[in-house]
Amino acid sequence: MLCKGKVTVVLGAQWGDEGKGKVVDMLAADADIVCRCQGGNNAGHTVVVNGGQFFFHLLPSGIINPRCKSILGNGVVIHIPGLFEELEQNEAKGLKDWKSRLIISDRAHIVFDFHQQVDGMQELEKGSQSLGTTKKGIGPTYSSKATRNGLRIGDLMGDFEKFSEKFKTLVTTYQRMFPSLHVDVKSELERYKGYAERIRPLVKETVHYLHSALKNGQNVLVEGANAAMLDIDFGTYPYVTSSNCSIGGVCTGLGLPPSTIDQVIGVIKAYTTRVGDGPFPTEYTCVCLTKLDILDTLPELKVCIGYRYNGKEIDYFPSTASELAKVEPIYETLEGWNSKTEGVRSIDQLPLNARKYVQLIEDKLNVRVGWVGVGAGRESVVKVPTL
Ligand code: GDP
Repeated sequence: MLCKGKVTVVLGAQWGDEGKGKVVDMLAADADIVCRCQGGNNAGHTVVVNGGQFFFHLLPSGIINPRCKSILGNGVVIHIPGLFEELEQNEAKGLKDWKSRLIISDRAHIVFDFHQQVDGMQELEKGSQSLGTTKKGIGPTYSSKATRNGLRIGDLMGDFEKFSEKFKTLVTTYQRMFPSLHVDVKSELERYKGYAERIRPLVKETVHYLHSALKNGQNVLVEGANAAMLDIDFGTYPYVTSSNCSIGGVCTGLGLPPSTIDQVIGVIKAYTTRVGDGPFPTEYTCVCLTKLDILDTLPELKVCIGYRYNGKEIDYFPSTASELAKVEPIYETLEGWNSKTEGVRSIDQLPLNARKYVQLIEDKLNVRVGWVGVGAGRESVVKVPTL
């Protein structure tokens, strides 16, 4: 399934929670390396294996596969205490040997606790206009990165005196903006001295590592966090996340040239449609349609197949929230299938009306549906053969 010496990418095509975790877990069976390229622990992926659940926020879901190396790339922002907490929680559930398999980019930026406090303060300041962020400090950390006073994992690995100086400068900058921000600099630095030693064995220059792995014919899988509609450039700005979670973020967040990318798999939930044609479907070579089972009991399905703006059908994705608010959906109605699909494992066992629905999605998106999800479990997948 994955191509030797190439990169396969899994991206959410809606607003998140499409079930990317399960798709990545499934594909990771063939992968040598699984990577995260953007975002931080504001993402959430659930993988159900043999009835047990693993929860991932920062780690790639593919880390469950004991054969895979896992990379947190340069485009990811890392809250180190959160990372260790996540590792410990998943270790208790059976995650094995992560110490020899997890690799962290020295270029990744650090999310500090004060970034999280600032996130909360910024949301409060916005009042009724708040963005509904997860308050995990992701936006403020990307702001520090863009302002060029952020601290990277590499800074923590170097001279601790210099790290301390930069840390103090960053805190002072934020305290000027938010005078009520309290940071116990001495104890924070003490804590980070400890984290530096814990994280050191995991840190590498990941760009060269990935290039050598690809040259040696290894299969690389990239797991996008968040989703296309939350992309800072192409999503529903300002209600978006603070990174590029469409295909561009894969190249910049891992240092991968576009020519290394073989397949781009878009994950979509069966019950949310996307707007217009826009740039998104053209990014994908294939789609994974999840949660079809959720529609099992519907008598009919009203599928939004496009939008009208000022009475005219549009073939682009509106760039402003005010334009989006005025678009009018165009529906096509299909009959439901009124039967349980959870136990279905092949396309010919799917009820006819469910197959018609899958076909409509393929026709409208002009992209092949490669898999259909019919339940949360690892086994609840219908592979759609290529004709
Ligand atoms: P992600 O953020 O895109 O990785 O999405 P999550 O991992 O948070 O998935 C959302 C939820 O959907 C999780 O509880 C999954 O176990 C569940 N899920 C994934 N695929 C399916 C499916 O095909 N059917 C059903 N019913 N649930 C699914």
